[in-house]
Amino acid sequence: MSIELFELRTAMIGENFPIKRAIPQRKLRNIGHWIFLDHAGPTIFKQDENVDVGPHPHIGLQTFTWMLQGEILHNDSLGNDQIIRPYQINLMTAGSGIVHTELSHPNSQSLHLAQLWIALPKDKESIAPDFEHYPVIPHIKNDNHEIYVLVGDFEQQHSPVEVHSPLSALDIKATQDTTITIPLNPKFEYGLLPLECHISVAGVAKKPRKSDSPIYIPAGESSLKVTLNKESRILLIGGEPLDHPPLMWWNFVAWEQKSIEKAIDEWNNFSERFPEVTNYPGKKRTLNFSSYNRATQIL
Ligand code: MN
Repeated sequence: MSIELFELRTAMIGENFPIKRAIPQRKLRNIGHWIFLDHAGPTIFKQDENVDVGPHPHIGLQTFTWMLQGEILHNDSLGNDQIIRPYQINLMTAGSGIVHTELSHPNSQSLHLAQLWIALPKDKESIAPDFEHYPVIPHIKNDNHEIYVLVGDFEQQHSPVEVHSPLSALDIKATQDTTITIPLNPKFEYGLLPLECHISVAGVAKKPRKSDSPIYIPAGESSLKVTLNKESRILLIGGEPLDHPPLMWWNFVAWEQKSIEKAIDEWNNFSERFPEVTNYPGKKRTLNFSSYNRATQIL
């Protein structure tokens, strides 16, 4: 089994909020159409600290948020106004263009979430923007572990989350020390990200590593054996390998360079393609491409 570890890149947002980026990175651009994976927190905010990501645009992707602790208010240029709470999913389809904001709830002192981006396939990259909130996610309780079926099918459970390419995502939490064998689709490549440690994976070379290092599993495997200590939690994402990943620039995803350049130009020129987020309480417009600040990219 040729599975391997790769490293996280950690950035701090403010003093107290670690963001650990698993993909994209030079060694691993994508896992199927999953093109971005940030593990945010867990963190406990000091008083008056929060996360407030002002209006920014996206094209060509879906943002997928899996909440574990805390609350975030989502607003967007379609007029959606939605709080996401633990064990819920927000799926925002940018398609031809959307603008959104993310604000952590002032009364919610802790925050822990995974945020992923899913590239839309080339023939769907310009579909109409949309936003869906999924309050209840299919959940399987076993003796020693529990599984949320975030995307795709698993053990007769079907996730309601609507994506546009063959993908899967599972959240697996050990309720006791346990070793489990997870069936895989041999057509998929996979990434495994520990969200709460400690774990070990059969087939990974023993070498010193941070217990939260992600693991890449190339296509062709039909199962994965994972040992989880009690309270450990992992995220397992999979998809069919791509010949080449789409282009990503700032918050824009497209299959051709000229589409990205057009989006940048239209954002900077206040095009109707990127309307205001009217119900966001902060500044109406915080970013131009030229003043792009990396720290604001993450949500
Ligand atoms: Mn965003």
